[in-house]
Parts: sequence; C-alpha cells; structure tokens
Amino acid sequence: MRDLLARAAELAADHRASLADRPVARAVDTAALNAAFGGPLPDGPTPPGAVLEELARAAEPGLVATAGPRFFGFVIGGALPAATAADVLATGWDQNGFNAVLSPAAAAAEEAAGTWLKELLGIPATASAGFVTGGQAANTVGLAAARHHVLAEAGWDVERDGLAGAPRVRVLASEERHATVDRALRLLGFGTRAVEPVKAGPQGAIDLDDLARKAGDGPTIVCLQAGNVNTGACDDLRAARAAAENAWIHVDGAFGLWAAANPGTAGLLDGVELADSWACDGHKWLNVPYDSGFVFCARPEVHAGAIAYRAAYLTGAGEVSGMGDLTLESSRRARGFAVWAALRELGRDGVAELVDRCCRLARRFAKTLAAGGAGIANDVVLNQVLVSFGDDARTDAVIDRIQRDGTCWLGGTTWRGRRYLRISVSNWMTTEADVDRSAAAILRLAQ
Ligand SMILES: *Cc1c(COP(=O)(O)O)cnc(C)c1O
Repeated sequence: MRDLLARAAELAADHRASLADRPVARAVDTAALNAAFGGPLPDGPTPPGAVLEELARAAEPGLVATAGPRFFGFVIGGALPAATAADVLATGWDQNGFNAVLSPAAAAAEEAAGTWLKELLGIPATASAGFVTGGQAANTVGLAAARHHVLAEAGWDVERDGLAGAPRVRVLASEERHATVDRALRLLGFGTRAVEPVKAGPQGAIDLDDLARKAGDGPTIVCLQAGNVNTGACDDLRAARAAAENAWIHVDGAFGLWAAANPGTAGLLDGVELADSWACDGHKWLNVPYDSGFVFCARPEVHAGAIAYRAAYLTGAGEVSGMGDLTLESSRRARGFAVWAALRELGRDGVAELVDRCCRLARRFAKTLAAGGAGIANDVVLNQVLVSFGDDARTDAVIDRIQRDGTCWLGGTTWRGRRYLRISVSNWMTTEADVDRSAAAILRLAQ
C-alpha cells in the first residue's frame, strides 16, 4: 500500500508539473482511448501496481489540463496544493462523511470549514451548511428546503403527502437562470412549467420591476442569481428581497457568491444575508477538488425538515444523524477535509486576493482583446467575459481554431441569441503572462 500510494502521488504530481506547458487540450483519438480502457473484463486478478501503471498509461492521452492556468472554459478552478493533498488523504483515510459516528474528524472539519465559509460569503452564522457534490445538488437541496417551508406555511406537509393536491407553489426565476435550477425543479416535482420567468436586465441581472410586478402572496419561491454564468452579473439581492418580501429567496451563487469574500467586489452582493438559502461551489472559485459544493439554509430546522435522513434503525426516534441530514447523499467521501485545507492555505486575505486577481485578469483579457479588435459584450464586473469576432459564424470559427490550437481552452456560448467566446478566469495558477499569451493566441487565430 505504501509504495502504491507513493507512486500514485508521484504520477499525479508529474501531471501537475506538466500543466503550465502541455497543450491545454488536444485532438483525442477516441477509438484508441476506448480501446486502451476497454476489452473484455479479465477473469483473474491483476496486481495493484500493474493496475495503476495501466490506468496512468491509458488515461494520459485523454487528460485535459483543466487544472492548469490557461483553461478558461466553463467555470473551472484547479485544485490548490493543500486541497489536493488533503483529498488524497481523505481517500487514503477512507472516511465516510455520513455522520460524526462514522468520522468524528470529518464532522469537525466540516463544522469548522462551514463556519469559515459562512463568514467569508456573508451568510448568517446561524445558518446550516451542507457539504454536497456541487451547484446542482446545492440548488436541489436549497429548493427542497424552500418547497418544505412555503408549503408548511400553507398547512401542507409535502414530505409526507407529496405534491399531488398541494397548494400551488409559484416559482419566480430569471429567464437567464442556470439550467441546474430547472433540473432541480424537475426532480422536486414542480416541473419546469411551474417557473414564471422574470425578465433579465441588459447585463443579465434580474429586472427588479418585473420581479416586483410578479411577486405576490401565496406560497412563492424566488430563485436569484449571484454570478450570471455568461456575464457574471449579480442580482441586486437587497432590492430583490424588498420586491418579494414574503417569498422564500434562494440564491444560486455557484461561483458568484465568492464575490462577497473580496472587499473589492463584495458590493455586488449587498444584502446577501437577507436570503433564505444559498448554493455555492467549492470546485469552481475556491479551487478544491471535484466534487464539492455547499448549501446553506437560514433556518436549519427547515433544511433538515426537507431532507433529513429518516431511519429509526440508525438514529433512534427523533434523533438527527447530523451531516447526512443536510445533504442528498448518505454515505459519501469526507469532502470537508479539502475545503478546510484550501481555506487554511489561503486564509481570509488569500481568498479575497484570489477573487480579486481573477477579476483583474478578466478585465485585462477584455482590454487586450478589445484593443485587438474583438467585441466585448458585457460589463466585466466579475471573472466572466463575452467576446465576439464579427458575426456568429466567424465567432464560431474562431472558437473552433482556439480549441484546436492548444494554447488555451475556451468555450462558446449563446447569449441573447448571439454567439460568443466565453472566458472564465477562476484558476489560482493563472498569471498575467498566461492571460497575455492566451489573448495573443486568440487574436492571432482570429486574423
Ligand atoms: C456551475 C454552475 C452551477 C452548477 O454547478 P455544478 O457544480 O456544476 O453542479 C449552477 N449555477 C451556476 C450559476 C453555475 O455557474
């Protein structure tokens, strides 16, 4: 075991060391990759050391440098050193994060990290914190809590009686909400037709007049956004609270909630503490390993009321199992260790600096590309930039060239009916030199 883990760490370290120089992505021979992994399931055993070498060899051509400094696609961070090492330990320790009986250490790490996260993100200290797999799970749990609460207020026990015959719940969400909100609503039995879309303003933040017009009485959930996935725009959370006083307000802040941790951008999230539930990712801007997200709920009893693990054989009548009452998963990896380690590695100032640096680099990207003749479609308020190179066909052609070139990787997006190259600067390793090198490549390929 000792040699095996040391070898695994060495292979992982070799990969990390190559990140700054290897092509960010390259053409993959999918058939060869599948052949390397495939074939019939062997009848007999293979020594673990041989399995490890086989795996490393087979995977190498299909690895993408998403953890590296010039991957600007989707919204992707790269795991910090201490967080990576902590995750290796979490796997080595093989702890179950279900509850404090199975791992008192995992429970303590999540308790401490949850407290620090609330402090950094401007969330009340009394809120509950669940360590889930990511933004999708965080939105699902937050909206489950919302469903529980607004129906309980209307005298309906949705956990016991389901939605058939329940009072109608209105769901107001921006027309530019993230797709995971819709999937959460599907899973929760609302169906996507329950959504009454609220207009988005010119930069993608919710239109407050439209919200105020639509918000009314009765069981209502309002889904807000901190960080529009295209533009980075944040909804005005204080004004939205005032416009929808009686609603349950859920904030999807998968990456944008981190703006609260940096004094330079915290103003974008003024009023964040007024919401009822929050979703945030660790594996994006905090740069911890996948899969790691957080759901917070202003009312812990509602959080647990919606999704608590109810198994008398495990916990005894009326007892709660702790961490497992706040997440969708029961047995799970002790993912709090890596979060704790990332927060320790960075400290409060380090988190602020990371967010600030990514925003600064996004502005540098936009400025350089604009100077080179590209069109910038959004106000760069956070880490997201939308770039065009003339008409849609031309923009798509440039995106295609960038993806085949390998200097950096960026994706395309459709926003307001137009095609854009979308830049997200979220990685702790990215430097000015990386941005300049990438911008130069993009401009060269656009010509
Ligand atoms: C990424 C993202 C999500 C989904 O998060 P996952 O961690 O991929 O599940 C939800 N909302 C927004 C705004 C996002 O950017």
